[in-house]
Amino acid sequence: MRVIRLEALSDNYIFLLHDPKQNIAAVVDPAEAEPVIRELAGLKAELVAIFNTHHHHDHVGGNQSLIQKFPQVKVYGGAEDKGRIPGQEVFLQEGDRVQFADRVAEVIFIPGHTRAHIAYYFLPQTADEPGELFSGDTLFAGGCGRLFEGTPAQMVESLSKLRSLPDNTRVWCAHEYTLKNLQFALTIDGNNTELQKRSYAVKAQRSRQEPTVPSMLGVEKLTNPFLRWEQPALQLAANSSDPVQTFARIRGMKDMF
Ligand code: ZN
Ligand code: FE
Repeated sequence: MRVIRLEALSDNYIFLLHDPKQNIAAVVDPAEAEPVIRELAGLKAELVAIFNTHHHHDHVGGNQSLIQKFPQVKVYGGAEDKGRIPGQEVFLQEGDRVQFADRVAEVIFIPGHTRAHIAYYFLPQTADEPGELFSGDTLFAGGCGRLFEGTPAQMVESLSKLRSLPDNTRVWCAHEYTLKNLQFALTIDGNNTELQKRSYAVKAQRSRQEPTVPSMLGVEKLTNPFLRWEQPALQLAANSSDPVQTFARIRGMKDMF
């Protein structure tokens, strides 16, 4: 399975999963249909699945047109999103498994950004191959999504689930927000040398207009402030010794940043 990253809207990424053997494709969070249709035409591949992480328009905006163009496509989303995702036929819950070509993804229920948000974790096929995590607007490179429909406690639980995946997991998040996320991270975790290195590298990448997605989960664990609620530096910045309160206060600071 090859993951093809497509740019959409102002800062969204759409991920096209392509299986060259059967020449079929699936798409994660089609913000719009045009870039997907164009890429599929180039590959001459057939679209068999739309995997939505949550109902926001910049994630499902292309569903309707893609269904019209590929009537056989199956639309997957979270069970709690029933009625909010155009064309949804499959209602997924924590622990469900979905298949694309020869790959299996585990569904992880991660409410917080919205009350229904899910992630798709494509399991590695061998021990040293990376898994592929499609984290939508929950875990970003260097950051996390805003809390629109969930509580800090929920988000901490959701991010804990993602954090428990192996370090060599590739994180495919839905927005190019990394530079700003790391600028914020430096204001509260500035002595973190891994963070300093990463932000230096990301600055250089962005000045060349290169994408910073996917990132590696191992790097996120060391540098993303929204996975580091038990670290002394972050608890100090949040003036709290409680993990959830630390997370909540840091999220609040980011909202104002
Ligand atoms: Zn969203
Ligand atoms: Fe979004």
